[in-house]
Amino acid sequence: MTDFTNLLELAVHLGAGDAALISAADITVKDELAKMCFEPRCEGYGNSLSCPPLVRGPEAFRKFQPEYEKALVFKLEVPMDVAMTLERNEVLALIHEISARIETSARKHGLQRAKAFAGGSCKALFCADYPECRVLDEKKPCRNPHIARESMSGYGIDVTKLMTTAGWEQQRWDKNNKENATVTFTGMVLLD
Ligand code: SF4
Repeated sequence: MTDFTNLLELAVHLGAGDAALISAADITVKDELAKMCFEPRCEGYGNSLSCPPLVRGPEAFRKFQPEYEKALVFKLEVPMDVAMTLERNEVLALIHEISARIETSARKHGLQRAKAFAGGSCKALFCADYPECRVLDEKKPCRNPHIARESMSGYGIDVTKLMTTAGWEQQRWDKNNKENATVTFTGMVLLD
């Protein structure tokens, strides 16, 4: 039987506030969530390998979901005043990195089909200094294969439900306690 403890510890070691294992079958994807990438159109849409339309939405997710037994989900709680500024890009980049490194470690330990997901356009996070995504523009390999991962939003993954399934409480917005308000960022790795 696979011991996932090391992967959970790795997530925290890399900077996650918490990590949990859930059944892959408990992940819900919704068409209306995936639609938010293109109505109104996100600036990341069509700009990289990691966003729609190359991330092919809920129907594609439902096809490979049964191949996986577990999902490792992790989260970072970030103060609201950080989440609302460009500093959020550092958090999103960290989500990509944690997810990718868990995927790499899982594969090294025999979970060959481990598949990582993150959030935020990899074009904006890792290739902002280039006019185009190298994969889309030049048909060449990604410049950042060690960190750039596909968007959870593009697959319509219900992150709110993911957090509930992981046993994490939802943060409630309290207008009287703005200075302590936080925003939760999440990543996920499917494990076979
Ligand atoms: S080349 Fe850059 S924009 Fe394209 S998939 Fe890789 S990280 Fe994303």
